[in-house]
Amino acid sequence: MPVPLFDTATPLSPLGDELRAAVQRVLDGGRYVLGPEVAAFEREFADYLGAAHAIGVANGTDAITIALSALGIGPGDDVVVPSFTFYASVEAIVPTGARPVFCDVDPETYCVTADTVRAAVTPATKAVIVVHLFGNVAPVAEIRALGIPVVEDAAQAAGSSGPGGRPGALAALSTFSFFPSKNLPCFGDGGAVCTSDSELADRVRMLRFHGSRDKRTYELVGFNSRLDELQAAILRVLLPHLEGWAEARHAAGLAYQRAGLGELVALPRPTPGARPAWHLYVVRHPRADELAAGLEAQGIGASSYYRRPVHLQPAMSGVGLAEAPLEGTEEAARTHLAIPMGAALDGTAVDAVVAAVRAAV
Ligand SMILES: *Cc1c(COP(=O)(O)O)cnc(C)c1O
Repeated sequence: MPVPLFDTATPLSPLGDELRAAVQRVLDGGRYVLGPEVAAFEREFADYLGAAHAIGVANGTDAITIALSALGIGPGDDVVVPSFTFYASVEAIVPTGARPVFCDVDPETYCVTADTVRAAVTPATKAVIVVHLFGNVAPVAEIRALGIPVVEDAAQAAGSSGPGGRPGALAALSTFSFFPSKNLPCFGDGGAVCTSDSELADRVRMLRFHGSRDKRTYELVGFNSRLDELQAAILRVLLPHLEGWAEARHAAGLAYQRAGLGELVALPRPTPGARPAWHLYVVRHPRADELAAGLEAQGIGASSYYRRPVHLQPAMSGVGLAEAPLEGTEEAARTHLAIPMGAALDGTAVDAVVAAVRAAV
């Protein structure tokens, strides 16, 4: 039985009529940028997260740059960020003029810890980007206790929850991506910045629209970075299903565990109290690429994502600072392998994947 690495179409297929109606509503209304759909989605998404404000922006990368700008981060400042993450978590720092300073991750959770962040702090550190990687929930409260403003990169963690609430409502600011492969997708690019601080929310709203409140006076040098009405209307159809999809992703992780996968490969460890809506289910094995080839030969999707961590990417030479050895990062980069995960992954598929892993190792 072939099992794809992910299947984004099946969970959306029952929603076709509703999605078409939402798109038609926008076409009939004739407003395409910063209209009623975006305002309504912002309210609904903030309520879902338990944050006071959600502000729609063009994508998850801009969301990070805008969040840092709202905090006043600029030239001369350092921003601590993990190297084991999607490239954009780091790339988004550079346009602010600040310097990325790389910190390590715990390879068992793939997340930063208070210790790995502390080891990377410099006298110029003005913020920490904490990535909830693969849907696991990074220990934001412990990192906030270091006294440095935290921005959550929650692009992979919509629907997860942790001891202090949901990713997206745990720090000063948080950022999301609604790229089609994420847990809460739209049909193109989209993103959001969330916060419970009204002043920061005000700055984010200005920054996404050229630094202006009223389209006449420009108080900041900002960005043109908006979520559009079509994407917001689509997101409003999908948001009520996020909780069910998150539950299915979490349950699929438990099913892998129950089927004995942990005897064959190292499983991702949820952080204490976390209930991850796994965005990707990423195991570890000393010969991960061989395992991937063995799975692909049996029709099972498998892929590495961050074999070359960000601090070793060509564009980062001379840009970021990686002082301490990043041992957890190197371990995770070398051994990680994503296997099938998604809201449509059922028990039969889980058993097929585990049988294929057993045959391959
Ligand atoms: C997807 C992603 C982003 C960027 O989101 P885009 O919408 O593609 O710009 C940032 N950080 C992480 C961890 C991501 O997975």
